[in-house]
Amino acid sequence: MAPSAYLLTNCAACAAPLAHDAPRCVRCRSRYCDATCQQDHWRRGHKQICKKIHRGGDAERYHANKKYKEAVAVAVEKCAEDAKGQTCYICTKGVFQRTNEGLVRMCACRGTAGFAHVSCLAEQAKILVAEAVENNLDDKVYQARWDRWSTCSLCEQEYRGVVAHALGWACWKTYCDNVFGRVALNRLATSMMKDERWEEGLLVHQSQLAKLRTEFPVNQEGVIDVLNNLKECYEKLGRTDAAIATSREIYCEKGQFYGNSHRSTLLAAGKLAADLVHHRHLHEAKELLSNLYDLQKVGDDVDEFHLKELYAMTLHDFHFYGYDDYREDLRKALEILEELVETSIRVHGEDHVMTESLWDLLWQVRDEQLDWSIDDLTPETRLAYHYDGKYEYSADSEEDADTAATTTSYISETSDFENA
Ligand SMILES: [Zn+2]
Ligand SMILES: [Zn+2]
Ligand SMILES: [Zn+2]
Ligand SMILES: [Zn+2]
Repeated sequence: MAPSAYLLTNCAACAAPLAHDAPRCVRCRSRYCDATCQQDHWRRGHKQICKKIHRGGDAERYHANKKYKEAVAVAVEKCAEDAKGQTCYICTKGVFQRTNEGLVRMCACRGTAGFAHVSCLAEQAKILVAEAVENNLDDKVYQARWDRWSTCSLCEQEYRGVVAHALGWACWKTYCDNVFGRVALNRLATSMMKDERWEEGLLVHQSQLAKLRTEFPVNQEGVIDVLNNLKECYEKLGRTDAAIATSREIYCEKGQFYGNSHRSTLLAAGKLAADLVHHRHLHEAKELLSNLYDLQKVGDDVDEFHLKELYAMTLHDFHFYGYDDYREDLRKALEILEELVETSIRVHGEDHVMTESLWDLLWQVRDEQLDWSIDDLTPETRLAYHYDGKYEYSADSEEDADTAATTTSYISETSDFENA
């Protein structure tokens, strides 16, 4: 059986998302939820176009061809001004008489160089790849041949925007129903990103994910790449919850693939944590960062640094919720920041921007803590506030706390701690 193509992921009749083994029209291979949808579609007019779709290859190829033509038209239109009076460097013609296909150029070529028909670029790429496959050329050459689908052979720069998009569809229509379907779908997906087609990109990436997971489940790195692209699409579309859900998925996949304490997993965790904090999912952020914190040793690594800083910030923000252990949160934030400041001074120096921003945060937390209770101060903080042990307060009574607050403001006015 030919590898199944997954771009048509919705029922042709009712547009509901489909399972990968959804039934198909026997002739044109359009896909449906079930027999009811299929019969309904047939009566509503599929009967009239089924043969036409079948002659165009099958439903997947028919769809790819249609999208390709639309994409070429858009690309040609956009390049029209630039390409006026030029000729194709492959076939040496201008506009094709029969198809009326104009020229495009969106790479780093200048002057009269680099203009071509999308169909000529596609044909050339197809021939070069076929030749590499037939002669079993080595990996590097093979890869370079595939790059003809996305890179100009003259200036060696990647095609941009609408031209990249048109070549993406050209590639997919060429291989959608054979063994290169997965590679071609990947090219199409990349082209969506280059042309900033986030909504359409979602569909392609989701298809790609389904295809990878069923046909090539061991390629977890591939899955992670696709998830990263998916996340970018969600972000660009402002679909925050879906973006965060994808972030969780990436972290989870990396944990399974590399192990929880692997650098790459920690990076994914850091990204997830940053997303969570940014969108104020502080409960989850705190829990995640707390687990990560336990996983790590004190290091000079910048990424660990950011994770810890993020943890301290989260604890600080979280304590405003006033849960039972809010004091503990603040104390933990202080402990982390004091350690980070010390490390930062040692590694980067006193005046480094990172040291300074950590200092700022540390003072913010210290101030906050003073507001809550003198009793929560760590010995280091007491020193920083010029406590020498004579001012031992207990926050057991309201009265003591009041005294503490008064004395504190007195100290802060007269001491030079702000220059510390
Ligand atoms: Zn349906
Ligand atoms: Zn049909
Ligand atoms: Zn040409
Ligand atoms: Zn070029």
